[in-house]
Parts: sequence; C-alpha cells; structure tokens
Amino acid sequence: MWRDNLPPVRGKLLRDQALAPYTWFRVGGPADVLFLPKDEDDLADFLKALPEEVPVHFMGVASNSIIRDGGIEGVTIRLMGGYWGKVEPAGPHSLFARAGALDLAVAKTAAKEGIAGLSFFSGIPGSVGGAVRTNAGCYGRELKDVANQIEGITRSGEKVRFEAEIAQYGDPKIDFSYRHSNFPDDIIVTGILLTGSGDGDPAALDQEIAEHQLRRAETQPIREKTGGSTFANPDPPGTPNQRSSWKLVDAAGCRGLKVGGAQVSEKHCNFLINTGEASAADIEALGELVRARVLDVTGVDLRWEIRRIGRLKAPE
Ligand SMILES: Cc1cc2nc3c(=O)[nH]c(=O)nc-3n(C[C@H](O)[C@H](O)[C@H](O)COP(=O)(O)OP(=O)(O)OC[C@H]3O[C@@H](n4cnc5c(N)ncnc54)[C@H](O)[C@@H]3O)c2cc1C
Repeated sequence: MWRDNLPPVRGKLLRDQALAPYTWFRVGGPADVLFLPKDEDDLADFLKALPEEVPVHFMGVASNSIIRDGGIEGVTIRLMGGYWGKVEPAGPHSLFARAGALDLAVAKTAAKEGIAGLSFFSGIPGSVGGAVRTNAGCYGRELKDVANQIEGITRSGEKVRFEAEIAQYGDPKIDFSYRHSNFPDDIIVTGILLTGSGDGDPAALDQEIAEHQLRRAETQPIREKTGGSTFANPDPPGTPNQRSSWKLVDAAGCRGLKVGGAQVSEKHCNFLINTGEASAADIEALGELVRARVLDVTGVDLRWEIRRIGRLKAPE
C-alpha cells in the first residue's frame, strides 16, 4: 500500500493523524497521512517522489474549512513551525511571509516596520497560504490589493512563482474575486511578497490593530469553535443592492437554529458554531438546512464560503 512506501523526509509524516485539534471547528476525522515538511526543499523532494495517484490536500489553520468526519484521503500537508511562520521585511513597504505565518503576524510585523496598509490582516484568523486561496480580506481591503508575488510548489515538486499582475481582478492566470481565487488546486503556496501602501507610524498601526480586534470581538463569536462567515454575501461589496448573508439568514428565522451540537450563532447569524459535541456532519447539515430555509423564504440560493473537505463517515 502507498502508505508503507512513503518517500523519506526531514520533517514529520504522521499516519492516521487526528486533524480536529488543528481546526477552528474542532471537528473532523483523521488524515490518512499528515506531512509536516521541515522546509521548502523537504516539501519539493517529497512531492517529486510521491506517486502521482496519491491525492494531496493542503491545509492552513482550517479557519474556513469543515473537515468531514471520515477524514482526508491521501496526504494532507500543513506548513507549521518556525520556518513556515516567518514574516520578514523585504524591500520598500514590503514583507515576505511564509505560507504558514498567521495573518495576525503579518499585521503586527507591518506595524513594527512602519508599513501602512496591511493592518486589515489582523481581522483574519487564518494563515497566509489560506489567505491566497480565499482572497481573504476585511475592512475594505483584500489579499489581491497587496499581493506582489506568490511562490509555490506544484504537485510534481516544481517551484513556481507568480508575478505582480496577479494583483488585479480578472487576470487570465489568477482570478481573484470576492473571498475566492482560482489559484491552481495543485499548487501549494509557500510564500508571498506583500506590499503595503506607504509609511505608517508604528504606534498608530498598533492602535489600528487593537481597534480591529476589539470590533471583531464585539460583533463576531471569535471565542467559539467556528469557521468564520459560512455563506458568501450574494452581492460583493461595491455592487448595487447589496444584501448580507446574515440578514437573509435572520430573515429566514434561523438565528440560534440547532442541529445536534451545531448552532447558528446568536451573536452573528452568518457564523455556525460547535457548541461542544458537534460532528462535522451536524455542522454541514445545519448549513444545508439554513440554505434551504433562506431559499424558501427569500428566494436567494446562498453559496457556501466555508470549504467542506474530505470523506463522509460511513454509518456504524
Ligand atoms: C472568527 C473568524 C473570523 C473570520 N473573519 C474573516 C474575515 O474577516 N475575512 C476573511 O476573508 N476571512 C475570515 N475568516 C475566514 C478565514 O480566516 C479565512 O478564509 C482564511 O484566509 C483561511 O485561512 P486558513 O489558513 O484557515 O485556511 P484553511 O481553512 O485551512 O484552508 C482554506 C483553503 O485554502 C487552502 N490552503 C490553505 N493553505 C494553503 C497553502 N499553503 N497553499 C495552497 N492552498 C492552501 C485549503 O486547501 C483550502 O482550500 C474568519 C474565520 C473565523 C473563524
């Protein structure tokens, strides 16, 4: 079996590794194999040598994902630890962040270095790699506004780099849209060059971060086991007739609705929460119930923003 003949690595290879503790929802089954590469060469060498039929999944800190109860087939790769978490100055008003760095670390480093225009990252509790895939953003800015270069490794182990033209909507290679990008599924992001908008006063930027975080805590259930906004707003910011998913969910009477241990947050009804004993199936079923009720009451077919990944659990 493929799992008995895995290529040698310098990082860690863990078989049947529980993933729930690595996720914001704290649900989900194990990875057949979890690979924690030591550095880029370790990752590239492993991917080169891994038989091409073995499925590979990339995971950040799962703040926008439901990992299903049956776990993830093949190899799940997570970029964590000192090497992958680095954020460093890289030229005028710029930082280079490795893909395992938390978005908050980007905002804090930018403040320390006096770089304006990157504080918005402090509102997003994910990793830099996840931010590329989701075109993460808040407070009127999103990743595509500040992304200059993206580095990655293909499924076959080749190092690749995408240049500055990605920073526009509608680019033929990488199309960034609201909370979404078509960054190729088979390329793992390893690092990104981010450029802010100019000089900023470190103390003022720290203050901006503190304000963002306070505002979050007041309006979102950030201390709960959650996955962020469940459904994408049907109309992206800046378009006419803007409707919010939370208003549609509220209008459909779903605030506080429960399935098993999953509940629609009372605080912000576009957030689902694991009240303690939820399974991934409870959370997904709750999301589908909300979608059906919103469609019935408002006629709007909500699109999942949260990614649902992996196998359903076979009935016992
Ligand atoms: C309380 C809360 C508030 C939130 N608020 C916001 C917000 O204001 N704005 C916002 O945009 N989001 C928000 N989110 C959602 C989430 O934080 C973002 O979508 C974030 O960018 C996801 O990053 P992640 O590391 O958790 O990605 P994951 O959930 O782990 O993965 C998301 C996707 O990215 C892919 N991926 C992850 N790492 C890599 C990599 N290195 N290379 C290639 N693909 C990769 C995964 O395969 C998956 O498809 C919020 C979430 C929570 C829990």
